[in-house]
Amino acid sequence: MLAPNYSADLVPTAARDAEGERSRHIARRTGRQHLLRRFMVTAALALLITGVAPNVFAQVVRTPPEARTFELGALKISVLRDSALVFPNDGTIFGFNVGPAAVAEVLRKAGARTDTIRLDVDTLLVRTPKHLVLIDAGYGVAGRSVVQQSLALVGVSPGEITDILITHAHPDHIGGLVDAQGHPAFPKATIWMSAKEWAFMHHEADARAEVPVIEAQVKTFEPGHQVLPRITSMALPGHTPGQVGYEIVSRSDKLIDTGDIVHSSIISLAEPEWTLAWDSDKNEAVKTRRHELQRLASTHELMFAPHFPFPGVGWIEPADDGFRFQPARRVDERR
Ligand SMILES: [Zn+2]
Repeated sequence: MLAPNYSADLVPTAARDAEGERSRHIARRTGRQHLLRRFMVTAALALLITGVAPNVFAQVVRTPPEARTFELGALKISVLRDSALVFPNDGTIFGFNVGPAAVAEVLRKAGARTDTIRLDVDTLLVRTPKHLVLIDAGYGVAGRSVVQQSLALVGVSPGEITDILITHAHPDHIGGLVDAQGHPAFPKATIWMSAKEWAFMHHEADARAEVPVIEAQVKTFEPGHQVLPRITSMALPGHTPGQVGYEIVSRSDKLIDTGDIVHSSIISLAEPEWTLAWDSDKNEAVKTRRHELQRLASTHELMFAPHFPFPGVGWIEPADDGFRFQPARRVDERR
C-alpha cells in the first residue's frame, strides 16, 4: 500500500543558534515550576511504592528555534521546536513498573545511551485555506521555550494564529498559551479542547493556573468531532482523561498527531505495556497505546509524535512483540 503522498522534505526551513535571543515566553506560574511540582509528586509516589527515594532531577533544555516544513496534500505543515526534556533513567518516569535496569536494556539494544532519557517537545503548525492552526502550544518555560521563535522562522506571528488545538492539558502542551505577563500568548486564537480535558484542566495541579487566563478563548468538543475543516479529533484516553489526537486530511494524504500516547521513540514502542508515571489512568493508557500503535502499524498512516526526536514525523512498524519508529526523511519517500 502506498503511503500518503507525503512530500516529506524535512529540510529545515531555517535554524539558527539561539544564543543572545531572549525568550518572550514565560508564564507567571512557569512550566518549570509545574514540572518541578510534577517531579516532586512522582518522586513521592515512587518513594511510597518502592521505599527508595529516586534521584529527582529533570531539566527543561533550551534548543535552538527550528522549523521543518512539508506538504500534506494541498496543505503546508511545519513542525516547530519548543524545547526538550532530559532526565535520568532512574525508574521515576519510564520503568515505573519495571525499574531502570529493564529500561536500560531496551535503550542499549537500540544503541541509545542508557543513563539519560531525552524527550523533544515539538508542536505542529497547519495552514488550511481559512485557518492558521497550532496543535499544542509548548511549555512556556521562562527562557527555555522557543516555540514562538520557531513560529517566527516560518513567518508567522502569534496574533495570526486563528486556532489552537490542544491534545491534552499537561504543561508541556498548554504552558505556551500564556505569555510572560500572564496574558494570552495567542490573543486572537480560539483554543479547542475536548470537554472532558477542559474539565480535567480545572483540577489538574500542573495546569489549572492557566484556566482563568484562557477561558474566554476556549471552545470544547466531543472526541471524534471534526474540529476544523480537514482536522478531526480522535479519542485517545488514558494519559489524561480527555486526551485526543488529531487526524489531518488533504486530498488522499493523512497525518495523525498522536498526542502523548507515546513519549520515547524507543521505550514506548518496544514495550507499549510499560506504564509511564505521567499516565493518569495507567491501564487505559496502555490499552490506548497498544491499540493505536497496532492501528498505525497496519494502516501505515503517517504520524507525528510531539516527544519523538525532532521532527518526529514517520511511520510505526511492527517489531518483535512491540513496534519501532521509521522516521520520514526525504521528499520522494514512499512506503
Ligand atoms: Zn507531553
